[in-house]
Amino acid sequence: MHNESIEQTPPVSLSRRQFLRAGTGAALGLGLGLPSLGWLTGCTSLPPSRTPAWNELAASLQGSLLRPGAPDFAAKARPWALQYASTLPQGIAQCLGEADVRACLQWAQAYKVPLVARSGGHSYAGYSTTTGLMVDVSAMNRVDIDGATGIAQLGGGARNKHVYAACRPYGRAVTHGRCKDVGVAGLVLGGGIGFNMRAHGLTCDGLTETRIVLADGRALTCSANENAELFWAIRGAGGGNFGIHTGFTFQTFPVGMYTVFAMTWTGRLADVFAALQDMALAAPDGLGMKLSVVAKAGASGLTLSILGQLAGPQDELKALLAPVFAVRAPDTAIVEERGYWDAQEFLSEDGTPEYSHERSRFARGALSGAAIQAILANLREWPGTTVAGTWKFFLMGGKIDAYAPTDMAFVHRGYSMITSAELEWSPADSPAVLAKNQEWLSRFHDRMEQYTSEYCYQNFIDPSQRDYLHAYYGENLPQLKAAKRRYDPTDLFRYPQSIPV
Ligand SMILES: Cc1cc2nc3c(=O)[nH]c(=O)nc-3n(C[C@H](O)[C@H](O)[C@H](O)COP(=O)(O)OP(=O)(O)OC[C@H]3O[C@@H](n4cnc5c(N)ncnc54)[C@H](O)[C@@H]3O)c2cc1C
Repeated sequence: MHNESIEQTPPVSLSRRQFLRAGTGAALGLGLGLPSLGWLTGCTSLPPSRTPAWNELAASLQGSLLRPGAPDFAAKARPWALQYASTLPQGIAQCLGEADVRACLQWAQAYKVPLVARSGGHSYAGYSTTTGLMVDVSAMNRVDIDGATGIAQLGGGARNKHVYAACRPYGRAVTHGRCKDVGVAGLVLGGGIGFNMRAHGLTCDGLTETRIVLADGRALTCSANENAELFWAIRGAGGGNFGIHTGFTFQTFPVGMYTVFAMTWTGRLADVFAALQDMALAAPDGLGMKLSVVAKAGASGLTLSILGQLAGPQDELKALLAPVFAVRAPDTAIVEERGYWDAQEFLSEDGTPEYSHERSRFARGALSGAAIQAILANLREWPGTTVAGTWKFFLMGGKIDAYAPTDMAFVHRGYSMITSAELEWSPADSPAVLAKNQEWLSRFHDRMEQYTSEYCYQNFIDPSQRDYLHAYYGENLPQLKAAKRRYDPTDLFRYPQSIPV
């Protein structure tokens, strides 16, 4: 999968037609750093009116090129966030390897067609949609595990579900998400949270190497020893900013028996919240937990729920939860001991497309009583859609803090939780209802800043976030801009919240 260390690119003097005739594999070799990229500069100076020759692109690909009207086009174009589904590409290149990705980058620059990478399509802000060329790497989804070393090699388009299937027979895991269809590319390049993160670090902490194709056609291996500056930058700021990743290498870890749990409460919510928070902040790193409070359409009151796993027996979980149960017994409770991958079947969801807007904030330490009251009060003020309004936190800490904020682009270390307020709706909600609900979400998000922080999770990417580069990257922003200038100087990889050159 990672065997192309010297890349094949067309010589300066080849026209696109000659290049295509010769085939990408037959053209000249390009050593890293060779100044033979003039053909690209030449191409980008072509007049923008030149009509893109989609048939040329199709002919240069090993995979297929889908154009509007093709049977699979609509399904492949659709993002998870349905409010962005009306932005349609002119073409979807279904890449089968690095050569296909490179051909897309060359062609798009030659014809000045904007492009985006698409892996799992789960960007909250629809940032893998475009009106130009979608470079779809989702067919590159192979996952190979070396049973002796525990090293996992993933294609750039693997999703959580491919990791689940490949890791299960080996009794090993990485830190993954619980949504099976989320792409590992987007997940790891923006950090990657999951129930294993406190015991084993974030997804990006377990990444040991990646392959990336840059705008100039070079394909680089990045690790702590090779292209280390770029390796630093992509672990937390890599999605759509520097190039297109075609492979990821992770060190997996062994997994055994776990206790999974799902519980709900509908009464004494502030007290239960506080007791759960006390328990969670003092719990061993083997506890992974999400706490949600939901205002649901048609429900008379709020519901507080927890979902998670403990690397240990259920008696240990029950001991941890005893002080919470003393405050109030849950209305519903499921507690089960399972092998790790059976536990993930209990915890996971498919992640089918929906209409939603999520706004995050990292928090340090415990939320105060006033913060808990504010959360409940804001949820009680939810104007209402046909779906739900939610506030939640994911427990952080543990191994996440083995790294300093500047050790890699993922800057958010030392926090106790990622919190977020979320709005879900459906097409049955009128624009006026939606506008009212969006105002509520903004107000809620703004009010929570005093209790949490101004920092937000770049993987819960939020098109309405103010000062988003500071919120996502904090003190690492200057170094990220320097990496952007070095690796994508023409700003080919661009979206509304991308790192500027
Ligand atoms: C239902 C759901 C559940 C989620 N659960 C979790 C969770 O448990 N933990 C967590 O941390 N996050 C979670 N997220 C957030 C998720 O990590 C981000 O939305 C992530 O960016 C999605 O990645 P993707 O590949 O699916 O998305 P895409 O939309 O394909 O890509 C996201 C961004 O990365 C870029 N990109 C995609 N592929 C590549 C590539 N190969 N090379 C370079 N850039 C690329 C895209 O251009 C885009 O800018 C969840 C999101 C959803 C919608």
